[in-house]
Amino acid sequence: MPNKITLIAKFMVLASLGGLAAAAAATAETTPTPRPQQQPVSLSAQPLRGGVYWVKGGSGANTGFIISKNEVIVVDAKMTEKSATGMLAEIRKLTPNPVKYVVLTHSDGDHVNGLSGFPKGLTIFAHENTKKDMEEAFKDPKLSALLPYLPTETSAGDRSLNIDGVRVNLLYFGPAHTSGDLVVYLPDEKIAFIGDLVFIGRDPLIHRQKGGTSFGLVQTLKKILALDADTFISGHTDLLTKADIQGLLTSIEEKQAKVKALIQQGKSLDEVKSAFGVAEVPAQGARRWPSLVETIYLDIITERR
Ligand SMILES: [Zn+2]
Repeated sequence: MPNKITLIAKFMVLASLGGLAAAAAATAETTPTPRPQQQPVSLSAQPLRGGVYWVKGGSGANTGFIISKNEVIVVDAKMTEKSATGMLAEIRKLTPNPVKYVVLTHSDGDHVNGLSGFPKGLTIFAHENTKKDMEEAFKDPKLSALLPYLPTETSAGDRSLNIDGVRVNLLYFGPAHTSGDLVVYLPDEKIAFIGDLVFIGRDPLIHRQKGGTSFGLVQTLKKILALDADTFISGHTDLLTKADIQGLLTSIEEKQAKVKALIQQGKSLDEVKSAFGVAEVPAQGARRWPSLVETIYLDIITERR
């Protein structure tokens, strides 16, 4: 039974979250979305190499695009129609080529809900589990404008594409952040788009309700490190190097070993959390960002590994 002080504290936290929580609540149940990490307000496209750009700012995760000889391939779609049209305007400043393709790294709303700002009739690539998640999410009448934008090309595993002369490898390394994460690897440019497989400065978010698992994330990060790439674009960080990814991998593996040992000693979830000094972060409306320690604990006791 919560006491009065707890309730007041809870109210104050909710009140201070203000518009963000309210705005997010609409899609919270069906499309969990990471909280924005100090996203700059204005949207900008920065060149990397070989016609590849990454896009920061606006609403939703970082995205990117590749300008090929005659076309444009976009990776992820931002969270809102407004931000998506902002990204398309940035592309138009750089090339008259039409956007023909979108590749989705996974199904979270901050990566896909901007699709309604794109022209219809695009070829949209995604993992088949991402399409299933999107079909489920778009049953929400508030998201019905997205129904014409379900992925048109799905796969259960890897796909090697040559789009207008650009080699694009869609790689699936198994369940990790969700059960449908694609790594978009450009072997000629040595660049990979890795969606939300890496967070820096905070615990990685693993959507267990979408089939994600911390042990799968470890396997996926090892396979990303084995790619012949030197630049990694993730949804919510600056550009990453292999050293950044290795650092995250090591820290997850250390936590997994420690949680495993504590479980073998018969510790409960609360005891494991307090052994790590994990403080519970209040949920934002219906949303909650569970600590990595909790995710690992649940992965082990449900044998999701
Ligand atoms: Zn995500």
